[in-house]
Amino acid sequence: MLKYKNIAFIGAGSMAEAMVSGLINKAEMSPDRITAVNHTNEERRIELSSKYKIQTVAFEEISLRNKDVIILAVKPKQAEAVLQRLKSVLQDHHVILSVLAGISTRYIEEILEKPFPVIRVMPNTSSMIGESITGISAGKYVENDDLDLAQELSKAIGKVKIISEKQMDVFTGIAGSGPAYFYYLLEHMEDAAVEYGLDRELARDIAAQTLYGASKMVMESDDSPAELRKKVTSPNGTTAAGLQALKENGGGDAIEKAVKNAARRSRSLR
Ligand code: NAD
Repeated sequence: MLKYKNIAFIGAGSMAEAMVSGLINKAEMSPDRITAVNHTNEERRIELSSKYKIQTVAFEEISLRNKDVIILAVKPKQAEAVLQRLKSVLQDHHVILSVLAGISTRYIEEILEKPFPVIRVMPNTSSMIGESITGISAGKYVENDDLDLAQELSKAIGKVKIISEKQMDVFTGIAGSGPAYFYYLLEHMEDAAVEYGLDRELARDIAAQTLYGASKMVMESDDSPAELRKKVTSPNGTTAAGLQALKENGGGDAIEKAVKNAARRSRSLR
């Protein structure tokens, strides 16, 4: 189904690029079915069209008539202006997907005034390599076919979970913002390893594979992360020493606060 749809991204920043890359490289969508609109930045438009062979246009030039799916991918603070502009050019057959953090389907429906199917889609930037975890939740005019389409599109860029809109803020706190927490963790593992004599590239490979392996263990094992941690922690061993430092320095609290802070921020955007 997705293969035969025409998609327009409104906003061509890093999230739109991650999704475009996943759609073309993983879902094997034809680039000529994808258009990206970016308002002032011509350089960005040229960059994307030469890299992915998609069509890129300025807002004034977009024709939405032959598009099926409109993906809102501007910054949340630009949402109102963009929706006000889109309102007059949207057509009844359009399905609207929104990746905007913190912007509810209700907010979008109210500005558009007509009963468009609006679906929130919260991917992360690992869409770029087909490894996103994407949360989707449906607005009040969404039919099963629309939701199927959103799921299909989300599966093209990784895994997908259907969640309620109430859960979207915390989902954003874990998954939307999550890659950055793990990058931050890796940065610090890398720095410590370099200080102790490894070269940076080697340290990076080791730390990244360790994170990947631990993730895979959690996904493939029946044990919870806490059980897995206990199993690998011998009393007075090296892991116990490392974990002790994490606990003494508020490592667990810091991670919980990061998720909660991001979720609060998501809530405050509307
Ligand atoms: P970004 O700043 O990289 O991209 C936004 C793009 O929108 C820019 O290229 C800008 O030129 C363009 N734009 C602004 N106003 C416009 C207009 N009127 N018409 C057309 N284009 C316009 O931001 P991003 O990181 O790609 O984030 C986009 C959205 O994705 C945000 O709402 C964010 O909440 C959501 N999101 C991002 C991530 C992430 O990891 N980056 C994850 C989940 C959701």
